[in-house]
Amino acid sequence: MKFTEKNLSAIRGGAFCLIFVCLFASATRAQMKMHAINVGQAEAVLLEFPAHAVLIDAGGEDTFEAAAQNRFRRHLIEYLDAFFARRTDLNQTLHSVIVSHPHKDHTKNLRAIFERYTVRHFIEGGGAVNASGMDDVRAIRNIVAEKSIAYHRIYAREVKRPSFLRDWSAELLSGSQAELKFLSAGRRCNDENNGSLVLRVAYRGKSFLFIGDAEVDDKEGRNPGCGGLLNRLLNDEAAFPALLDADVLKVGHHGSRNGTSEAFLQKVTPKFAVLSAGVPATRSRNTFHAWFFGHPNEIVVKLLEENIAETRAPVNITTMTKPRTLIESRPLDKAIYCTCWDGDIVFTVDADGNLPAPATSN
Ligand SMILES: [Zn+2]
Ligand SMILES: [Zn+2]
Repeated sequence: MKFTEKNLSAIRGGAFCLIFVCLFASATRAQMKMHAINVGQAEAVLLEFPAHAVLIDAGGEDTFEAAAQNRFRRHLIEYLDAFFARRTDLNQTLHSVIVSHPHKDHTKNLRAIFERYTVRHFIEGGGAVNASGMDDVRAIRNIVAEKSIAYHRIYAREVKRPSFLRDWSAELLSGSQAELKFLSAGRRCNDENNGSLVLRVAYRGKSFLFIGDAEVDDKEGRNPGCGGLLNRLLNDEAAFPALLDADVLKVGHHGSRNGTSEAFLQKVTPKFAVLSAGVPATRSRNTFHAWFFGHPNEIVVKLLEENIAETRAPVNITTMTKPRTLIESRPLDKAIYCTCWDGDIVFTVDADGNLPAPATSN
């Protein structure tokens, strides 16, 4: 082909378009999203970074439908399929799957995830053999061994070591400019909730805190545990209290009465709070739903309202004062979000480090 002036200008135009498309694509990717996926009385959070995706927990409320028909499992898979259809650059690959603790509401759909997508790292904190989600975790340990997936069983006593998960963190930092740091990990507690993995994520000056089902205290009752994880997180010697400050707090234990304390909230000073819980008014014939557990708890939601200044578009919420008793219905205008009121919840930190109110599906 002869390079006439017309051809050259077409080539220049094409090159400009290519550069423009590349710039546009990288601008839309120079952001982080946190997706709290609505899996009912359970938890599954997808972290979307410029070059990686990380899944924290793969739970789903038990609806007594056959596994493949379970509407929360279907929703989780459809959500992730749509995510990977948009992020074709990720090649159906989750950089990491993290299990906060081995309770069924956090592990139920793990196997479906590992069967459907490529996973590079599996991170868990162990737990008692009879923990409700341990059969799911054991199944994944087998898959991990078969497929040579990197496996990390992490414990609280290790998190302060300089070498702790160094290569793993470095990969996410260099590829996605995301800082992921565990503030606590497995603790061999009687109550697995207090052995939850606690993860802090920072991206372009904004931060997110994931505390699993951490509780205030577990020293009461006939089977005392190893101490409340929330209190431990406030302890300088055991953890990193200076790193608790976060813009988004994924509230502990589905908004349970024992999953939030004033002292903890005053340390975190969240701008936004997110709860993952089922709809209390919906009861299935098994016992694993929000009404049975009393989630989200009215006292906890009130405490969050007192400690969060940011407002949200008003919404009518349903909370509970006690398990299996009273249901309260009332308006809310503080920046507290729940999968039980909002459906799927998506926070975005843009390329300039802005963190506006999340998008919700309801
Ligand atoms: Zn849970
Ligand atoms: Zn739990």
